[in-house]
Amino acid sequence: MMRCVSILFVVALALIGVAAPVAADSPITITSTRFVNNFRTSLSFQIDASSRAAQITRADLLVQVEGIPAIARVRGVFAPGTTTRATYEWNLYRDYLPPGATGQYWWEIQDAAGNQSRSSPQSFRVEDEAHAWKQAADSKLAVYWYMGADTLVATSTSDSTNVIGLFFAVMCALIALTSISLALIFRKRRARLSVFLLVALCAGALPLWVFRYLGEANSRGDARPIGFGQALFEHGINALAFLERDTGVTVERQIQVYVYGDRGDFFNALEPGAKEWTGGRAFPEYNVVLIDIAPSELEWGKGALAHELTHQVIHQKIRSPLGELSLPPLIDEGLAVYYESPGAPDPQRVIPLKRAIQNDALIPLRSLTKAFAADSTVATLSYAQSLSVVDFIFRRYGRDKMAQLLQVFKQGGLPDDVFVQVLGVNIDGLEVEWRKDIGAKPRAVPSRSLVTPTAFPTFSLSTEATPTPSR
Ligand SMILES: [Zn+2]
Repeated sequence: MMRCVSILFVVALALIGVAAPVAADSPITITSTRFVNNFRTSLSFQIDASSRAAQITRADLLVQVEGIPAIARVRGVFAPGTTTRATYEWNLYRDYLPPGATGQYWWEIQDAAGNQSRSSPQSFRVEDEAHAWKQAADSKLAVYWYMGADTLVATSTSDSTNVIGLFFAVMCALIALTSISLALIFRKRRARLSVFLLVALCAGALPLWVFRYLGEANSRGDARPIGFGQALFEHGINALAFLERDTGVTVERQIQVYVYGDRGDFFNALEPGAKEWTGGRAFPEYNVVLIDIAPSELEWGKGALAHELTHQVIHQKIRSPLGELSLPPLIDEGLAVYYESPGAPDPQRVIPLKRAIQNDALIPLRSLTKAFAADSTVATLSYAQSLSVVDFIFRRYGRDKMAQLLQVFKQGGLPDDVFVQVLGVNIDGLEVEWRKDIGAKPRAVPSRSLVTPTAFPTFSLSTEATPTPSR
């Protein structure tokens, strides 16, 4: 099921590609094909072929990247001859593919006499070989990482409690030792008495701390050594299970997540021109997520990973054959935040909402069906409200209705029409109910958008970058 292995991509990938000609009676013989992954620079494709009949005049490479409907056909570079080697360098700076992207390639060879031959399709995979990746995977999710400890037992809270406990125990021991030394130096009865009292006190405190530590270790129940990457993987699996249960969507293609533990490494792996505040990048077409999680930010990273996974799964499910995503951010982001910490919502997420309720400063829900504002305060409130609305829909209307909403959004349509069809209220009606539920005042004035709408809604939420946490 799960495994943790260091992967020797170099060897595996260099050995791919021993091809046989499709047409056995063709005078063209294909000796070998070869693929070499030189991520981040290029992908090299190569073929050795010969013809008994005439000079080879054409060598076309065909590449089908998984998740992309079109097949790319490009001309190989070769020296004319009856025996030749053709090559093609796929420039990743120009045509970027992320690590984890996979596909198939084959060659079509033609000679001057008009004979043709095609090599059998071979698989290829793009890998970032700059790191010694470890892996945890099941059929739905693969997490790759290269930094972070292999064993982390305690969570950060109990870690700090233990540190405090240990600090007191050490302090007690130090005081006791100092007192004993002083008592020995001054040899006074009163000093001896106070030493006795101090030692007795510390003798009582130490077992108390040990007892507390053991109690905590027990209360953690299945406390077992768990590594950084494994912890991310298990959180991701958990989030996917909740998402599948609540919304009826299923993960059909394994999602691959590359966890970069270093910001420089992360940007070296991304496509050129990535925004500097990017903390995560999803490539829904390839089912790949690249995410920047420093080992010291595991807790934040778990939420960010689950957030991106939710977008991936929803996008897989909702994307129409035309590739358009009609799901409003209110629902898409709301679900993504909802599953960041499945079963235990992060209280931090609710703070902006509470403040906005108090100040009667909620953003009209209608505005949240369009792209979120770039302003960070408005954006933070937008996420908080979306989370709250999704939570409200689950509680008031039930899981089935959320599943239906997603189904209907897949078919496309205006948010108002979809909400009326599934929930029986339009967005304003939903807002009235939701405001009542969260204890907010009814909206006083008709909605005035806080967001300047763009002429063309070009956002693609599943590919939206996750802002980095403040460090
Ligand atoms: Zn998001």
